[in-house]
Amino acid sequence: MSDRLQSPEGIIATVNAIAAPSAAEPLVRSTIERRGVGPRDVLIEIRYAGICHSDIHAARGEWGPVPYPLTVGHEIVGVVAEAGAEVTRHAVGDRVGVGCMVNSCRECANCRAGMEQYCLKGNTQTYGSVDRDGTVTQGGYSTHVVVDQDFVLRVPEAIPYEKAAPLLCAGITTYSPLAHWNAGPGKKVAVVGMGGLGHLAVKIAAAMGAEVTVLSQTLGKKGDGLAFGATDYHATSDPATFEALKHTFDLIINTVSAPIDMAAYLGLLRLDGTLVSVGAPPQPLAVPVFSLFANRLSFAGSGIGSIAETQQMLDFCAEHGIAPEIELIDAGSVNEAWERVLTSDVRYRFVIDIDTLR
Ligand code: NAP
Ligand code: ZN
Ligand code: ZN
Repeated sequence: MSDRLQSPEGIIATVNAIAAPSAAEPLVRSTIERRGVGPRDVLIEIRYAGICHSDIHAARGEWGPVPYPLTVGHEIVGVVAEAGAEVTRHAVGDRVGVGCMVNSCRECANCRAGMEQYCLKGNTQTYGSVDRDGTVTQGGYSTHVVVDQDFVLRVPEAIPYEKAAPLLCAGITTYSPLAHWNAGPGKKVAVVGMGGLGHLAVKIAAAMGAEVTVLSQTLGKKGDGLAFGATDYHATSDPATFEALKHTFDLIINTVSAPIDMAAYLGLLRLDGTLVSVGAPPQPLAVPVFSLFANRLSFAGSGIGSIAETQQMLDFCAEHGIAPEIELIDAGSVNEAWERVLTSDVRYRFVIDIDTLR
């Protein structure tokens, strides 16, 4: 298959993949087509692909209609197998990554400001988006991907290969709001939900110097949370938690994939505190406006991060020795892994060994 990929520009290649045939059916082994390597493209031989809860929301049509069959996956690491004639940023053999977006308009105010994740025309998502050439993008549960060089990240050697993938979505999605809302020394940060995003939020916020509390459904993962750098850990199933922690935090990062009682969590913020939801449940989150008045609170959202910030995050993680906790699985175990994500039985990110898909 890689023979066909190393073909002249414009020639389409067929590669192995895992695809969702429909919203209701299990994932199946399949093949997808990749475009030929254009002058500004790199061909990446994928080694590892992380499983994000967003893959499940999207493939099951929970966020709206998607084109089927769909191959998801937006936490991709691999090696550059071919580089187009005009590629200057990456070379054959480089260890690289791709996250949630593979293109943007590059002209709008947000793109020009270096925040292409907020492209006013909509960034091109790694899967399920219509690309600039009119084709539908397909994600990282596959053996190869062709991506414009500007949307490809360098993965530092200090980050173990198989652990790097989850940083490309879970890492940047938590790093970006922590950086934007100034998590650091003297700041009290709470992380709600300790799954894929949550456990990285704990590690990153602690490395930034903030005092971190985990708010999880139970105390079952308390030992892990403290090992990741939290200094406090509470069960949200216990109503006493919401009394004990009233008016405590400067910043709350909500990573929960389902709706939660926003008023209860807003009550945990101190004056001028901010609750940022990165969790993306399909249902609306109800925010009673009176719960914002008492302490002049802000309720905010945040979507992934820019390419420049993603590179910054990777370099930060390399410098601070931060890597996700992963469970490496083979390509035949993805359906089972998805079921385990849905029951919060994830420690703390599943990563597919793509060699088992070749
Ligand atoms: P995950 O690994 O499943 O983690 C979510 C965690 O939320 C669970 O581990 C669990 O933590 C908690 N949780 C789950 N269901 C709950 C419920 N009904 N009530 C209370 N807590 C519950 O998922 P993930 O991959 O980290 O993704 C989390 C969310 O972020 C998803 O909705 C995903 O789509 C979204 N996301 C958004 C962006 C963005 O750009 N904004 C990017 C990536 C992902 P405990 O066991 O500790 O309670
Ligand atoms: Zn994701
Ligand atoms: Zn734009």
